[in-house]
Amino acid sequence: MLLRTLLLVLFTTAFAHTTLMAERIAIGIYYGFRFESFVFSAVEGEYIMEGNGSKVAVVVTGSMLHIDLTQAGFAVRDTDQSYGVFSSLEFRGMSISNIFQVRPVFPSNKPKESTGDLEVTQVDDCIRLINTLDLDEYIAGTVESEGGSNALPEFYKAQAVIARTFAIKNFHRHAHEGFNLCDNVHCQAYKGKSRMNRQIYEAVQKTRNEILANNAGEPVITAYHANCGGITGSAAVEWNRDLPYLVPVQDPFCDRSAHRNWDKVLTENEWKAYLNKKAPDGCDAVFSDGDTTRRKYLDLVSKKIPMTTVREDLGLKSSFFRTEYNNGHVIIHGHGYGHGLGLCQEGAMEMARMGYTYVDILMFYFNNLILKKE
Ligand SMILES: [Zn+2]
Ligand SMILES: [Zn+2]
Repeated sequence: MLLRTLLLVLFTTAFAHTTLMAERIAIGIYYGFRFESFVFSAVEGEYIMEGNGSKVAVVVTGSMLHIDLTQAGFAVRDTDQSYGVFSSLEFRGMSISNIFQVRPVFPSNKPKESTGDLEVTQVDDCIRLINTLDLDEYIAGTVESEGGSNALPEFYKAQAVIARTFAIKNFHRHAHEGFNLCDNVHCQAYKGKSRMNRQIYEAVQKTRNEILANNAGEPVITAYHANCGGITGSAAVEWNRDLPYLVPVQDPFCDRSAHRNWDKVLTENEWKAYLNKKAPDGCDAVFSDGDTTRRKYLDLVSKKIPMTTVREDLGLKSSFFRTEYNNGHVIIHGHGYGHGLGLCQEGAMEMARMGYTYVDILMFYFNNLILKKE
């Protein structure tokens, strides 16, 4: 009986383990940037370099390799010698703590540091780098990239849950290209290893395996933006999608923040020219409009222009604004920065300052969701 119970426990544990969240994630770094040569350096720890699947060299701490994509494949050399030409390369971290740096040379780009392993392959005559690393390291990097490096722990925890939920929900987004997520804003920005802030690592650890889920336990779309302008938007209006957790929330917390209110002034002629381009028939009805709500359209006599289109065309901070005519000018009075859906970062930072927890923050901005531990 004892044995049976023990077996059952073992079986349950083994099964439970298979449903656990992924421990590692593969990120396409410098995604969308086309380059043909780069420098790899071992910043911390040693790396084994494999060419075409076999060990070629050990890259010791502080040393660097130049890698050029040639007609024949990847030519690898350092200042002393050439290591050969390979159709694929892999750098695998061999130490307890490994940090590497890559720096595109032709054309050049900012260096990026990260942990884990690096795979180098060729796509369309360009280099593709795939960095496989611990999920938590990746989350810490994205929290720093997207949430800044000067906030409070409860804010970082909220951002960590958001970043993790995004990663889990979109885990197969780039599967057709051989990795999970890219490192630019198409997925979520990952500028590399978080080195700035110990609090970010602690926030990731303290929210380990936690995601935002709906009542069916599925990860949700964890939208966020810099400032909502006083009320968050709804997915139904902004995205034409009915998502019950992305609905308007009156936000008193961001009202003294930097991006709460802004103005942009155009001359009467500039505004007229813009409206004429959009609706040649009847534009002079909206030199001034007193609508202070978040709305989907700018109502012209003959046509409705989506507010998001006006935002894009005129380079505005948000699509939440009204217009006022004043002495030959049209003043656009705007609120907030970003699309306005989900969590308002400046409001969330203020909530953290006031002593709210990350759970309070998440539950305030996302309607009727649960925090699920995977
Ligand atoms: Zn992507
Ligand atoms: Zn807000």
